[in-house]
Amino acid sequence: MSLRSHTRDAQLLMPTDALPRLREALSYAYHNTKLTRDKFDAVGVLPQNIRDSPDLAMVPATTRAEYRREFPAGVLAGGATLHDPMVVRSRSSGTAYERLLSADYSYTLAERRLGALAANPPLLRVLADPETRRSVRYAAPNCSDVECALPQTTIRDRILPNGMLVLPAAHDLYATSTQMLRQAWNEIVDWRPDYLSCDPTRLAHLLRYLDHDDPQDIPGRALVMTYNFAPAFATAYLRRRLPTGMTVANSVTMSECGWVAVSCPHGTLHLNTAELWMELVDADLAPVAVGEVGELVVTSLGEPLSPRVRYLTGDLYQLLDGCPCGHRHPAVRFEGRWRNAPVCSDGSRMSMRELDDLIGAPEHLVSYRFHQHAPDRAELRYMSSTGNVSEWEHSMRDRLRARLGKVCQIVIDVTAFLPAERSGKFVTCTTAVS
Ligand SMILES: [Zn+2]
Repeated sequence: MSLRSHTRDAQLLMPTDALPRLREALSYAYHNTKLTRDKFDAVGVLPQNIRDSPDLAMVPATTRAEYRREFPAGVLAGGATLHDPMVVRSRSSGTAYERLLSADYSYTLAERRLGALAANPPLLRVLADPETRRSVRYAAPNCSDVECALPQTTIRDRILPNGMLVLPAAHDLYATSTQMLRQAWNEIVDWRPDYLSCDPTRLAHLLRYLDHDDPQDIPGRALVMTYNFAPAFATAYLRRRLPTGMTVANSVTMSECGWVAVSCPHGTLHLNTAELWMELVDADLAPVAVGEVGELVVTSLGEPLSPRVRYLTGDLYQLLDGCPCGHRHPAVRFEGRWRNAPVCSDGSRMSMRELDDLIGAPEHLVSYRFHQHAPDRAELRYMSSTGNVSEWEHSMRDRLRARLGKVCQIVIDVTAFLPAERSGKFVTCTTAVS
């Protein structure tokens, strides 16, 4: 993957009939939020100057840091208050220093969810069914609306108004006690969810624990894999384990933007261009072509509480050449966060997804964590069901060095424990090189 400029064959993700909504949204954001007004004024552009999609390039992008600095007064639409009963506040699961508080109207978030789900009618049927009343959420504590899903809290404390039970989860995934795993499973059985909304790595870990001595059927009509990147070792395990007939999908949600993408029944992720104006751009903010990886930039449509204008999400996606399902939402592949992508000696970056493809899901692999310490030094630690697998280690070292560069020394070791990030999120790939 590389983030070079390719203006030739660059793709416009958005349908042209979304243009009037874009123009309205820019005008709304300009007249109602200080951050957007400052941004436009700094370059001497007015919302009415944006007539066509390419004109959007005149508008400066907004970074996460700028948004955080201006929250709430500079980014919430004028006159709005966080105490409005229609306002949903959420905290991003980012590491402490960059954690972001976001807020939006519950109906804005519901519209985005519905817009994204248009790409997956079977999942929409389950989630929108009036008979669907109960669900469970299994994710790192910081990803939950319920502050720290600690075991000493009662079930009652962890049930959200929409019937979602937030399962108890330890901060550090692989340090979760067996007692806590058992409690999470017992609560799933007791709650009888219609669907599950889970970090796939966490759910795979729970099922592996159960399968060791007490394999059981998983209840529910659907599983939404969300909250975190889905590594192949976890999805392969879940695929073997889930009941046939269960609807399984991936979704990408961000506390800042709501539902950004959902996978269709073919398993391809589709961007939610129904409710968000999306761009996939290279390092120069030029649109990428099919087959290339770019950063997702989001401009909110409608009149949300906190409008976003060319918001740099920090997330990478590869633009695909459509999907057999034929849905109009652009087909993409989620590649992970930009800042977690190791830097290769040729100057390109290896995305979290690209690394995960290299590693794959061999039978012995329970989990792994890759970290690049320096351009010439990295480590791959893995958990294995059969102890260390030397042959696999040798072939992994060769493959990683072929991508990262021959100068890169890679330590590969089997381990019984892999640490989570400070945020509580377990991340398979990180880098100290920027
Ligand atoms: Zn599709």
